[in-house]
Amino acid sequence: MANVWRKDSLVISLVMYFLWANIPASLSQELLLTRFEFTQPHMGTLFRIVCYARDTTTAERASNAAFDRIAGLDHIMSDYSPTSELTLLCQQAGGPPTKVSEDLFCVLSGSQETARLSEGAFDVTVGPLVRLWRRARRTRELPDPARLAQALELVGVDKLRLDEKSRTVQLLRKGMALDLGGIAKGYAADEALKLLDQHGIDKALVAAGGDIAVSGSPPGSDGWNIGIAPLESPETPPTRYLRLCHAAVSTSGDAEQFVEIGGKRYSHIVDPRTGIGLIGHSSVTVVAPKGIASDSLATAVSVLGPKRGLELVDSMEGTAALILQATADGVGAYCSKRWKD
Ligand code: ADP
Ligand code: MG
Repeated sequence: MANVWRKDSLVISLVMYFLWANIPASLSQELLLTRFEFTQPHMGTLFRIVCYARDTTTAERASNAAFDRIAGLDHIMSDYSPTSELTLLCQQAGGPPTKVSEDLFCVLSGSQETARLSEGAFDVTVGPLVRLWRRARRTRELPDPARLAQALELVGVDKLRLDEKSRTVQLLRKGMALDLGGIAKGYAADEALKLLDQHGIDKALVAAGGDIAVSGSPPGSDGWNIGIAPLESPETPPTRYLRLCHAAVSTSGDAEQFVEIGGKRYSHIVDPRTGIGLIGHSSVTVVAPKGIASDSLATAVSVLGPKRGLELVDSMEGTAALILQATADGVGAYCSKRWKD
């Protein structure tokens, strides 16, 4: 009996040695990595960084640099801060072109690109409308139609002019207000990943609420497992999962920000053509190569609805979407052609 046991352990040891000796060098390096997680509040949400690094010092140094970068972007793009670059730019509305920072120009160019692709469903000039709907959420009263009509006069992608050569931006009408709430977090997640990479961390996830960007897969896996919250009970564990690396995923929806008036549920996303908050209960998840695209597209597809929204997503390479919509008979799910991939 004892002999058999000794023989067995010898075989096990030999097998273990054989396995270890044959692990590729890259994988044995990966096995030395530890998982780290950090969170900080920025841009009105909690940013979370999950990364794999050799030691605490590397992970902390890299994450702090990434958070500093996010804070810097918040200071540029906030529409709440009276001193943000965005606020100062909007104060020039109706005046001549204004030179802006590379970051602001990059986000505004990305905004105009999604605006063009979505035929104006995504539109960062919605600021005056968003203000009216924020007020409606507080007072639980629909915006005054005359004020809505006035605000609509100041909205439209054609009223925002960008010049790449001089890196200037011009808002054509006095009173215009830009709102980067549907794109800035995705861009910030992209930039945070870049910073982590510059610090030698190439396996990381940056989550900004519903906007997530990931770089290389966690050690020994083929991607980051990302759950999609169920529409009706977002706090319960997800039933749908995605596995992603070197990509971004954003979910837009009215799970947290909406107002119910007269039996109708109005979202914080507004249709720039009508000025009205989207009606009904839905969520849109978009996967794209970068956060700046997934974030703005999720908002755009929310406005466009399943048919036109999925047509748009299907026409873009490396992009997929899932739309969940509450109906009288339960939750309807619509997915783009590449969603299953
Ligand atoms: P969340 O802020 O919940 O992540 P989104 O990414 O969809 O959700 O962004 C919604 C925000 O974008 C709104 O709070 C508002 O600031 C802004 N917004 C609303 N409607 C539009 C629109 N049609 N186009 C661009 N931005 C919008
Ligand atoms: Mg968005």
